Amino acid sequence: MIIILHPDTTDASPEYQQILAYLANKPNIKTRVHRIVGALRTVTEIYLIGDTHSLDQAEIEGLPGVERAVRVSEDYRVVGRHKDDARGGGFDYNGVHFGQDSLNVFAGLCAIDTPEHVEAMLKALRDHGQVCTRMGAYKPRTNPYAFQGHGKDCLPWVFELAGKYGIKVISMEITHDSHLEEIHEALEQTGRPTGVMLQIGTRNTQNFELLKCVGRQREFPVLLKRGFGITLEESLNAAEYVASEGNGMIVFGLRGMKTNMGDPHRNFVDFAHVPAVKRLTRMPVCIDPSHSVGSRERSPDGLLDVFHVTAQGIIAGANMVLVDFHPAPQKALVDGPQALTLEELPWFLEDVAIAREAYQKRCELRESKQKNGQD
Ligand code: PEP
Ligand code: MN
Repeated sequence: MIIILHPDTTDASPEYQQILAYLANKPNIKTRVHRIVGALRTVTEIYLIGDTHSLDQAEIEGLPGVERAVRVSEDYRVVGRHKDDARGGGFDYNGVHFGQDSLNVFAGLCAIDTPEHVEAMLKALRDHGQVCTRMGAYKPRTNPYAFQGHGKDCLPWVFELAGKYGIKVISMEITHDSHLEEIHEALEQTGRPTGVMLQIGTRNTQNFELLKCVGRQREFPVLLKRGFGITLEESLNAAEYVASEGNGMIVFGLRGMKTNMGDPHRNFVDFAHVPAVKRLTRMPVCIDPSHSVGSRERSPDGLLDVFHVTAQGIIAGANMVLVDFHPAPQKALVDGPQALTLEELPWFLEDVAIAREAYQKRCELRESKQKNGQD
């Protein structure tokens, strides 16, 4: 069960203490408190774990300071969308909203290489009104001799450049818990010119200790990528690992599945799961067209497959797009063959806007059908 408190009830309120005292008297019930910071209000939720069947929902809803109580199913207790659960998902971070109703584009370098390339990328983003990007300092590579990223040494100058170009959020993969501290320190050292979304890559989706570690901290939101060789249920449980530790700022990322049935794409594009993840959970859903397609192939209509699958994800309601660009793809140290060029950025953004508008029109059509009793 989840107890949702009135927005003006904080842990300093007498009502809060009263609720905790009430729960302390119930046998075999443990509590975990989550605070969800939104643009307009901060909501406190108390998660009850244990023998909740014996609890009286109406009695709890009658306690001062309680807005609502929701009975949750066993699956995805925190990230899940439960029966009669009217809560929205989403969160705000560094002035950017992430929800199942919004769309943010994170175009950028797969891996940070030179200051010149990073600056060219960031400038292009600023010139086209973008405030988010992707850039990896820690790269998990199949081949142990391949470039693994510049690590913590590049963080200060990358953050400073991001600040210079008004970038508010950088999606950056971490592969070890020490990277969290390194990012935190570099942000402190540079005066927090930007923000970071911690990316957990597909290879680490079931690295439970790493998941717990990013779940325990509340400073950074998390982009959790789906595991490329496990079931959707297993990946959603990985998100639950993060949330159950207290960090509810999670975006779930679809990035394709490893199977030769996906050929000729690098991975089998799984963006048909966008609405499924939105139905099963309250998390915003990201699509990664670059790592799923993995090439610059184009169809006879002249559009790159990366453009096509991006549009497919957005027209199905995706909330975030993580996409590889590079000012000189032939010089990229990681994933150059799938990168779009800076000249393609405005075209890509225009294509994204077309797909988003089509999605919104589809939702409006459905609303009008519902009003007319046709749905
Ligand atoms: C990436 O986004 O750079 C990446 C390595 O993605 P994935 O973990 O999905 O392979
Ligand atoms: Mn990559």
